[in-house]
Amino acid sequence: MDFSLTAEHQMIVRMVRDFAEKEVAPVIKDHDQEQKPIRDALYQMGEMGILGICIPVRYGGQGMDFISLGLVCEELERIDTALRVVMSVHVGLNSLGLLQWATEEQKQRFLVPQARGERLCTYGLTEPGTGSDASAIVTSARREGDTYLLNGEKMWISLASMADNFLIIAKSDTAADPPHRGISAFIVEQEMKGVTTGDIHGKLGVRAGSTGWISLDDVAVPVENRLGEEGEGFKIAMSCLDSGRYTVAAGATGLIRASLEASVSYAHERHTFGREIGEHQLVQQLISFMQRDYDMARLLYLRAGWLKNQGVRNTRETGLAKWFATEASFAAASNAVQIHGAYGYSDEYDVERYLRNAKGACIYEGTSQIHQLMQAGYALGYREDRPLRCEMPAYDAETWQQG
Ligand SMILES: Cc1cc2nc3c(=O)[nH]c(=O)nc-3n(C[C@H](O)[C@H](O)[C@H](O)COP(=O)(O)OP(=O)(O)OC[C@H]3O[C@@H](n4cnc5c(N)ncnc54)[C@H](O)[C@@H]3O)c2cc1C
Repeated sequence: MDFSLTAEHQMIVRMVRDFAEKEVAPVIKDHDQEQKPIRDALYQMGEMGILGICIPVRYGGQGMDFISLGLVCEELERIDTALRVVMSVHVGLNSLGLLQWATEEQKQRFLVPQARGERLCTYGLTEPGTGSDASAIVTSARREGDTYLLNGEKMWISLASMADNFLIIAKSDTAADPPHRGISAFIVEQEMKGVTTGDIHGKLGVRAGSTGWISLDDVAVPVENRLGEEGEGFKIAMSCLDSGRYTVAAGATGLIRASLEASVSYAHERHTFGREIGEHQLVQQLISFMQRDYDMARLLYLRAGWLKNQGVRNTRETGLAKWFATEASFAAASNAVQIHGAYGYSDEYDVERYLRNAKGACIYEGTSQIHQLMQAGYALGYREDRPLRCEMPAYDAETWQQG
């Protein structure tokens, strides 16, 4: 068992840490307060190749491995959640979905510009009426010759108003029994007639990020834009979550680290009863929880990343990493606010933002309750993963780095 990071991993950590500290940290509070998406940093991420970090070079990416993707997410969310969310939808939920399921022609057409950061993309599963119960979606895709007509509304979609390409999950057969067999996946382009998008304001957290809605009104989507076979959309949507949840787990690990670093610094600075507060055992206890959870969350996401590199199915391990890290990050941020006392309750310090940002990740990409059901299902033998028609390829440095 080898726990060391390669020289390449260490290089990517340094590069992203440097970028996040220099370009994001100085402006993040303003963006968060003004609820203004942090666009410049996003475009810089495209130029740096981060938006295609673990996509093979021949598809426009950097040809790095899945561990690199996790490390990037940890470093980004250590500063703020908004840019990690971009990694989750652009790389995890969409581009890796195309790497797994798209035809060669679709990869050249859609994945290449996405991995190069020339076109932003996102993932539209959730609707106003349903989130966790994904097979209850009502967005419809009616086939007419070589075209599908899409109608419906997607809600709570990250990057909805900024993305160029959307992976839309819709019902192509409303009579299918069970209903999830009637679901298909489509690559919808922002320029298509009948697509309108907008932003949601007043969110608790991720205020420097873009979250919104997508409305589809008789959008004619050519059959060449269907991802996978008709009726395969539910499996595609769930397999995309295996990648997205990995980025969320790694990012939440970064948020625990941010909470720990801020707490340690403040615990040395603030004095009560004649000593720095770090010397009080009850403050030490809160810090010890953060250190414990950081190490556990990191080990869990690195294990998931290692399984991904091997091409081994990892739905259970990734789900566990996501559930644990997001709940632990919320607890860490809450304890960080506690350690900062009244100052933690104001936006003078970053910890209040960490707390607001942490809550979202306990909701999206499977709520904590859904993850508990999944883990219990595996343990009890009620749930098992069956092979997919298209599995995510194992990482192979030589072929992934070939141009
Ligand atoms: C900031 C943010 C960004 C997002 N980005 C995206 C995106 O890019 N793309 C996208 O498709 N979606 C996105 N979402 C939506 C997100 O995935 C959903 O909110 C999530 O799946 C939960 O669905 P819901 O909100 O409809 O809650 P519901 O499914 O209505 O659940 C409500 C409550 O009931 C509980 N519950 C539901 N079913 C059960 C059950 N069987 N047993 C026990 N408890 C249960 C849930 O845990 C929750 O506590 C985003 C959400 C947020 C907040």
